[in-house]
Amino acid sequence: MAETPTVPERKEMPLGTPEHAPKARPKLPFLLDFFPLETADQTRLHRFYDRLREGRLSTTRCRRDGNLHWPPRTACPTCHSEELDWVDLPERGHLYAFSAVLAGAPFGMEGEVPFAVGLVDLVGAPLRLFGRIEGKSWTALRIGEPVTSESYEVGDGRVFYRFRTIG
Ligand SMILES: [Zn+2]
Repeated sequence: MAETPTVPERKEMPLGTPEHAPKARPKLPFLLDFFPLETADQTRLHRFYDRLREGRLSTTRCRRDGNLHWPPRTACPTCHSEELDWVDLPERGHLYAFSAVLAGAPFGMEGEVPFAVGLVDLVGAPLRLFGRIEGKSWTALRIGEPVTSESYEVGDGRVFYRFRTIG
């Protein structure tokens, strides 16, 4: 009698399995997936997502020349050193520019249209970050609007950052 083939054990899903997710997100083909892969076996930048899960928006700073990077890096683009430190970024910022996605949203985000996206100048750091802008309709947003960064669950266990208007 032939031996019963063994079925490989399924890998446990990390925090945020679909039943705990705020909103279920369909599994998309890799090339259509807007959000990056976040775990240590998928990216050397996993600490960015680990920290984001703790509510900390952070990036890398070169230990050799002090350059602050955005997005975070595995090697300094100036001196190529891989000796980088993780540093928290200021939460506050001001809206430098914005636009609205009225159609043609990335796959899986069609139901969220219309939504605002913008460039945010962080207060106290020489960085301008792109991201979703929540808190107000895009028709009510103004250049210079104060915003704060926040992290959120995208619905399949992963996290990402976005900005929210203050007041
Ligand atoms: Zn450097």
